[in-house]
Amino acid sequence: MGQSHKLQLSKDEMKAYGYQVIDTIVEHFNTEHIKKPVAFASREEMDSMFKVEAPEEASDYNEVLDFVVEKVLPNSNIVSHPKSYSFVPGPSNYVSVMADTLATGFNIFSGGWAASPAAAELEIVTMQWLLKLFKFPAKKGGGLFTSGGSMANLTALVTARRQRCGDDFSKAIIYMSDQAHSSNIKAIRVLGFKKEQVRIIPTDIEFKMAINKLKNAIAKDRLKGLQPFCILASAGTTNTGTVDPLNEIAKICKTEKLWFHIDGAYGGAAILSKKGSQLLKGIEKADSLTIDPHKWLYQPYEMGCLMVRNHKWLSETFTEKPEYLRDIEGNTSEINFYDHGIQLTRRFRALKFYMSMKTFGLNAFKKAVTYNIDLAEKAEAFLRKSSKWEVISPATLAVINFRYHPIGKSISEKELDRINQEISKRIVASREALLVTTVLQNQVVLRMCLINPRTTLADIKETLSLCENFAKDII
Ligand SMILES: *Cc1c(COP(=O)(O)O)cnc(C)c1O
Repeated sequence: MGQSHKLQLSKDEMKAYGYQVIDTIVEHFNTEHIKKPVAFASREEMDSMFKVEAPEEASDYNEVLDFVVEKVLPNSNIVSHPKSYSFVPGPSNYVSVMADTLATGFNIFSGGWAASPAAAELEIVTMQWLLKLFKFPAKKGGGLFTSGGSMANLTALVTARRQRCGDDFSKAIIYMSDQAHSSNIKAIRVLGFKKEQVRIIPTDIEFKMAINKLKNAIAKDRLKGLQPFCILASAGTTNTGTVDPLNEIAKICKTEKLWFHIDGAYGGAAILSKKGSQLLKGIEKADSLTIDPHKWLYQPYEMGCLMVRNHKWLSETFTEKPEYLRDIEGNTSEINFYDHGIQLTRRFRALKFYMSMKTFGLNAFKKAVTYNIDLAEKAEAFLRKSSKWEVISPATLAVINFRYHPIGKSISEKELDRINQEISKRIVASREALLVTTVLQNQVVLRMCLINPRTTLADIKETLSLCENFAKDII
């Protein structure tokens, strides 16, 4: 085999190897819908399959590849499966997969302009596309791609704190609702804030941040001599797809001089549809906005994104000038993305976004997002017409929550919780669909997140009918 002390394969070996990998991926894209979306295995089972000492000697490369294809790849949930409804699915697309392959194949360093002008340029260009979509300032606005929404939120909160508090943030207070994503709490902990510096504002009956309670909390904190500095709104909560009252929060931020961060990691992409952009009105007023292209913009992992109204806020927060980078500083129009965020060495994430947009066109993305929102509404209509199901939170930005609750039977709340939990347990155990529960207003409910453009109403009906069959056994 090739020159293995140089970690090389021969040209023919590389080709043969690569063709097999591509064949495997293409086969997966064409057959995933007839596979089962759920995988589970215990630590013992996985250990017995994989646990070995690091091998000193070489193995046949075909054997390694075959082993991985047979044993590793099938032992994961298929998040792009049409019946993968839970958490936030990852529908992905083949063009972006190939783009990632190219970016990795050429191992492009996407940190600084001098190292890869085209990579930096594509990040600038694709960011401009996004800034325009969200009606952020075209000239002053900026942003960067991150590994995901969690890193984008963390990057946003560092920036907000730097801009509003400087070095002393001992009295700084941040506000978010009880439906805000857990990554924000994590970010706050990473940043070294104390628990007492976060105000969790209750939500109203529709799961929106309660504005009156928010105003009270800010006023009380000011009376105590504390320093309110940031409100974090959700534009599409992960639980219910609910959008906080963005315009009202923007107004409060303006009068109170607070930083306005919007976590649109789940719902931001809905800006591509008419209904979505209605719901997202006010999103353009954020100081910083997280979106997550590896969710509803159909990109493979990992790709998150942070946008800001003024790109200088990022460079003011993240620029360091060490002597070993001085030769590649360049001029200011030539952006070094390592100066705009946490990572120095960065993979070339913009390429997949760029290539998939160029290949399919923005219109295809608009149609897909619109289809997803309509599909959830159709699912809602179907559930409402059924005597077995109850809608708990209406279809919002392609998320719907419901529970099994047949009419004409008196069933206690506790029993309903048990039934719905058990339905989820059985359907997951059958591996036919990935459908788990969440808790809304103390009720155990089933949640579908319908952002896969290849999921059909027929898929949903099949899944519900399977649930009904399980329910008969459970009650
Ligand atoms: C998924 C999600 C995140 C976290 O994003 P990752 O890409 O998983 O790191 C943050 N906020 C919201 C609202 C999300 O739905």
